[in-house]
Amino acid sequence: VRFIAPLLTVILLALAAPSAHAWAPPPTDDAARLAQYLPIARAAWGGSPCAGREVVHLQSDAALMSQAPGLTGSSSGVLDGMAAPSTCEVWMSSGLSALTFCQVLVHEIGHLAGHLHNAASGDIMNGEGDIRWPACARAVTPPLTLLAMHELRSELPAPRASWRISCLPAARGSARRCVARRGDAIRRFTVTRLRGAVSVVPED
Ligand SMILES: [Zn+2]
Repeated sequence: VRFIAPLLTVILLALAAPSAHAWAPPPTDDAARLAQYLPIARAAWGGSPCAGREVVHLQSDAALMSQAPGLTGSSSGVLDGMAAPSTCEVWMSSGLSALTFCQVLVHEIGHLAGHLHNAASGDIMNGEGDIRWPACARAVTPPLTLLAMHELRSELPAPRASWRISCLPAARGSARRCVARRGDAIRRFTVTRLRGAVSVVPED
């Protein structure tokens, strides 16, 4: 009996040890966010003339406020960020959520790569701020629990391990939208965590 307690402790520690690629909550500090999300923004725009020499100014509220009327065409316009492709500079506002910070950074680095605004809803270069970038959403969203992943895989046709599964937060509540892909096949699910259990509902 004397040996059981220390042995159990060792086993529990081993189970609790995080893996090398463990997900961590997004940083609240803008400098740490920049370090984490700049690689995502650079990966989004291969071949940019500014590649590798972007200069990103953080907490640039004063500069953004002074440029906002000219850039937005409105005296009440507010900018989350702006870019100067000629000097490879980007200015970022303070007070953004981690997701918005990441997506605005991808957008501004897109300007450095020569991209202009468009009007497509959800496009990363949308000019009205209606922007989405899945790699940013994944970076700020915790992965599914092992239980939820097991439940979701049990809904998929065999061989189940060959499906690639990615999940994003849902618009509201604890439900999350997940997409499983294998070749051209796509299955969509809503995954909801209940107390001690997981519900997986196919969307299609
Ligand atoms: Zn823009």
